[in-house]
Amino acid sequence: VRALPVLDAHAERRVEPRSVRLSLTDRCDLACVYCRPNKRDGYCEETLDLAAFTALLQGLYAGGVRRVRLTGGEPLLSPIVVDAVRALHEVGFDDVALTTNGTRLAKLAAPLHAAGLMRVNVSLDTLDPERFARLTRGGRLSTVLAGIEAMATLPFAETKLNVVVVRGENEDELEALTRFAWDRGMTPRFLEIMGVGEGARIPHKLVPYAEQRATLSGLLEADHGAKDVDRGPARYVRARPEHGPHRIGFITGTTDTYCDGCDRLRVAADGTLRPCLATNDGVAAGAEAARGDLAGVRARLAEAWTAKPDGVTFRGCTEPSAREVSIRSIGG
Ligand code: SF4
Repeated sequence: VRALPVLDAHAERRVEPRSVRLSLTDRCDLACVYCRPNKRDGYCEETLDLAAFTALLQGLYAGGVRRVRLTGGEPLLSPIVVDAVRALHEVGFDDVALTTNGTRLAKLAAPLHAAGLMRVNVSLDTLDPERFARLTRGGRLSTVLAGIEAMATLPFAETKLNVVVVRGENEDELEALTRFAWDRGMTPRFLEIMGVGEGARIPHKLVPYAEQRATLSGLLEADHGAKDVDRGPARYVRARPEHGPHRIGFITGTTDTYCDGCDRLRVAADGTLRPCLATNDGVAAGAEAARGDLAGVRARLAEAWTAKPDGVTFRGCTEPSAREVSIRSIGG
């Protein structure tokens, strides 16, 4: 954890922390080519237990945070994930959501739903088994498809399919992935590769939003859509009426950044509060969480938020600091 720079400009920052992305674990069973270099890139030694995570999230709730998303690593590898969802639900968050690679969703979708999980995003970049194995360095597509089918039988408030578009790999599948998602009640979202960690080493694999949008123009209305209130940086474009009441989301991140108004922070698996995806800045709050010191957690939150980028001059994941971040350990 680096010491935080204290920037005068932040004293006037008006956006308050409202949403958190929580890494219960930094482990993952896949190694996607834009995320991590291999499966041996190092995990943190100690992670918080359920009681400490719960206290930490209670402290953040007391500090004004109202939305929580479990990210990774891969959250379904955490043995406490179902209990954590139940605990977050009981804390009273307005939104309890999950982003997963789907490999364990077939077993866990029902218990997670019963525990109070509201919304699920599944990451899936291709419907081709060989391509999937190559992009994930050894993953089995059938496990993810089984997870999606299990999830689709349950009344989650919202489900999405996150697709990172990779030049030379899956840019020919955008329409097929869209129809796959729509057929299962999911909203497809296409993401640019971001210059975070491993993604910064493959800029030639970027497929810009404009190209993605052009590829899908036959399915979509002509405008550039709009963001959902309090739902992150994606812009959603409505499908043409003949395709039904669907839409497609786009997350730019590289050709366009969107830090203005960002109300997100991240909690690493060891309890470090990280105010921004695009830097390694953070404040350790694990000790306060372990002893149930909610006021202490709030104080660490306030300290971490002083390092939140200004949202005006900061260019998000295109900043040089983003290259040093492990997107696998802190979620996308
Ligand atoms: S890069 Fe920008 S949008 Fe992303 S977490 Fe940091 S401030 Fe928010």
